[in-house]
Amino acid sequence: MASSKGDGEDLSTYRSKKEKNDDSDDDDTTSSGSKRVDASADEPLSSMAAKLATAASVSERGDCDVEDDGAVEKIRKYLAEKLSLFVPDAVDKPPQPKILDELSVDGIVNYIKDGKAKNIITLTGAGISTSAGIPDFRSPSTGLYANLQKYDLPYPQAIFELEFFKRNPEPFYTLARSLFPGAFKPTYSHYFIRMLQKKNLLMRHYTQNIDTLERVAGMEDDIIVEAHGTFHTAHCLSCHKEYTLEWLEEKLKLDDVPSCNECIGIVKPDIVFFGESLPEKFHTCAQVDFKKCDLLIIMGTSLEVQPFASLIDRVNDKCPRLLINREKAGNSDRLVWLLGMQSGLHFDSEDNYRDVFWAGDCDDGCLLLADKLGWGEELRNTVKEEHERIEKEIKMKKEEDLLKTRKGRVSKNENEATGSSKK
Ligand SMILES: [Zn+2]
Repeated sequence: MASSKGDGEDLSTYRSKKEKNDDSDDDDTTSSGSKRVDASADEPLSSMAAKLATAASVSERGDCDVEDDGAVEKIRKYLAEKLSLFVPDAVDKPPQPKILDELSVDGIVNYIKDGKAKNIITLTGAGISTSAGIPDFRSPSTGLYANLQKYDLPYPQAIFELEFFKRNPEPFYTLARSLFPGAFKPTYSHYFIRMLQKKNLLMRHYTQNIDTLERVAGMEDDIIVEAHGTFHTAHCLSCHKEYTLEWLEEKLKLDDVPSCNECIGIVKPDIVFFGESLPEKFHTCAQVDFKKCDLLIIMGTSLEVQPFASLIDRVNDKCPRLLINREKAGNSDRLVWLLGMQSGLHFDSEDNYRDVFWAGDCDDGCLLLADKLGWGEELRNTVKEEHERIEKEIKMKKEEDLLKTRKGRVSKNENEATGSSKK
């Protein structure tokens, strides 16, 4: 699933963006005083790579002094020139645009209050669902994988590999049972995002989660992009017949492995396994949405899985970006920086003019935002009412299931009784 598909795109986007900004001419010097040098292939790539490796290792040891920094900077410029990239001039930087009053949550809040955020995009990961009790199941350290020992997996991630699943779907379904949607309630974060939608401020919600909690929270289908797929629907791997979540749930109660009604093929929920391509909706929406985005809110993700992580670079350079997460993420990549490109989030850079980091749990961050926006009471009431409603539903469902099981037992006993009386 992790692919670096976005990287090539990013490079070309960066260059064309810079070239558009350069409203001057064919001159080697741009209006901002940066220099462009055409690539002359007089240096073998291997030699460049060696220099790059040296530069990277110097900086990764973390012990580089001023002299080392100078060497790294030299090589950075050298590489950028070889690759015909623009080299920003360190002394003569253009002034950064003033987008936020201040680089803080208050700055973001004022920006929203001023009506500047009308096309918000939210990017979310496992962190918005942890308070619902859903563990980050892709991480082998969560303990979920302990139940799978009897299956003798070659490695934990194998259960999310399509070829392995086709041969042996049981481990996946064992894990799926413990994560099955329906028993979990959406969090403050989910309802905060739905609130953005209700107030017509949300353009799209991109999530890496497959727990369907945005749907449970009442968000509309067209606003959600489930980048890594969803449990919401499932398909037969042989004849491609579609199945619903309810069907899958019923099957999981009865069988070990849900099989197709038509052809007895294996049915797989539409979650994206390793090596599978992302849903079409991800690509079509991303292409249109990010150009229009005027505020990016990133929550509960370490921004490590591609191509999802590179979405942060697809907004325009006037779009503020807020990260709510326990720790900083999405920092500019060392190699990309060596190539003289601006990418990633820039919380600690002196050039930062639009990136805000708030450290903590997603729910706390959303409540803080809601309170500052004057929506706190509304959010708390929504969560209370919705949770009560869902709890009632879960209770009713459990009672129904119990009734069904009892009926099943009674009719089984009756059958046995009739059978024995016939003897
Ligand atoms: Zn089938």
